[in-house]
Amino acid sequence: MPLRSTARTSLVGLVIEQMEQLIADGEWPVGGKIPAEPVLVETLDVGRNTVREAVRALVHTGMLEPRQGDGTYVRANSDFGAAVQRRLRRAADLEAYEVRASLERDAARYAALRRTDDDLAALRAALAERDRAWENSDVCAFIDADMHFHRTVAAAAHNSVLAELYEHFSDALRATLQAVVRRPLPDSVRHQFDAHTAIVDAVEARDPDAAERAALAHLTEAMDALRAARPDDEAPAAAPRAREASPGEEDHA
Ligand SMILES: [Zn+2]
Repeated sequence: MPLRSTARTSLVGLVIEQMEQLIADGEWPVGGKIPAEPVLVETLDVGRNTVREAVRALVHTGMLEPRQGDGTYVRANSDFGAAVQRRLRRAADLEAYEVRASLERDAARYAALRRTDDDLAALRAALAERDRAWENSDVCAFIDADMHFHRTVAAAAHNSVLAELYEHFSDALRATLQAVVRRPLPDSVRHQFDAHTAIVDAVEARDPDAAERAALAHLTEAMDALRAARPDDEAPAAAPRAREASPGEEDHA
């Protein structure tokens, strides 16, 4: 590896730090496209090669993801998230879902023990938003609303590690969730309205056992739906995550 001058290295380092901050702050949200290279050159006031090098470094850690002929997208909002997602891409959906289930059960328990009035208001709002998206038959909005609901539960648990871990699991499982919701499974999805409401009711009542039971009921239904969405005759190549994988995926696996 050729040596680089200190000035150059630290300039790239500074740009990397700035980009990491933009991603961490949600200025560049996960799943979104970052500004095009000329825009970055102008706003950051650095050379094109510096921008390229910084982007390449963040692609390498897995925070950014280039898509051929499209642009560069944000894949994870931290190194930690990138590492978790890298690992999850090598896991079977059900394996990842089982671990998400453990996080969700604990999140519901701790939320029931630690929630504030603000947390409760946020949960009720998230639940209403989820119902609204369902009634409008807007699949994308419904998935977003469901993920937002569960993140709100995780936030109410007041454990930053759990919340962050949960966030990365749900990002990684978004494609799976899309596969489940797109299938004609109205009954099992509809049942989950009860489970979601039960989680909030238990959190409101500060009843950790009921919260855990409700989270478990939700997860059992979701896992059944996941199994139903993955019939044995479906070729692995047709799996949703494989379809969504980027061409450069193997480099980071
Ligand atoms: Zn849900």
